[in-house]
Amino acid sequence: MTPGADIFLGIGGNLGDRRETMRSAVRQVRSVLDEVRVSSLYESDAWGVTDQPDFLNAVVRGKTTLEPLELLDALQAIENQLGRVREQHWGPRAIDIDILLYGSQKIDEPRLTVPHPYMTQRGFVLRPLADLAAGLTLPDGSLVGELLTTVSQNDLRRIEGPGWAD
Ligand code: AMP
Repeated sequence: MTPGADIFLGIGGNLGDRRETMRSAVRQVRSVLDEVRVSSLYESDAWGVTDQPDFLNAVVRGKTTLEPLELLDALQAIENQLGRVREQHWGPRAIDIDILLYGSQKIDEPRLTVPHPYMTQRGFVLRPLADLAAGLTLPDGSLVGELLTTVSQNDLRRIEGPGWAD
């Protein structure tokens, strides 16, 4: 068995060639995590400021021996690289990579809060997370599959199966 902690990442983006940026992000995440598995690909209506393009969302599961802040550094380097490429044309928020879960750890540091604070309220996180781990228990004891029944999925569309990132 590969050593390391079980990691779940939320990946989203709504600018530029969204699908290609998502695929590039997963490709690069594969160089950071072992045993990578990818959820289906979803599209969700932009929230908050609604006059912006819809988001693509997915969750990636893998293992790492990196410490949490080392993992955050590696993921921010990927965000920056993909964001910079797009910045000339589309602006800096082409891709957002969040650490949803790092094993069963609770982390509360200035740069890193895990589990990700909003993950239990967002269908576009819980639905792809449930693709990969519906039976997973979060550090607070809640079950992913049960949390999913408490959030709206009205604005969420599954647009491709898990092979989208192959
Ligand atoms: P955002 O602009 O929404 O991508 O937020 C990025 C900031 O959130 C970074 O400065 C991170 O240090 C911080 N952050 C806190 N917790 C997390 C987390 N679980 N995953 C990713 N970034 C996080």
